[in-house]
Amino acid sequence: MSYDRMSDDTPCVIIIAECISCHTPIMAHRLYAPSLRDDDGQRCPICKSCFHLWNKIHRTSKGLKPETLHPLAYSPEELYDEPCN
Ligand SMILES: [Zn+2]
Repeated sequence: MSYDRMSDDTPCVIIIAECISCHTPIMAHRLYAPSLRDDDGQRCPICKSCFHLWNKIHRTSKGLKPETLHPLAYSPEELYDEPCN
């Protein structure tokens, strides 16, 4: 029980994962990275370009505001990596 509590408060929650959509290895924040559910209902992170693609398909193409990316969604090194679109 206490272990779960501690892991929630841990600032170091960057995980290395594979984007569920394009299978690119990414460093993503366990809580803040955008994610999709896989076939088993598990949340799996998606990379930045897939996130922008998802926004285009599910939000802006329907006249909705795009979801914003959390500033801590990805690893700190990637914060300065501006999206290309
Ligand atoms: Zn991707």
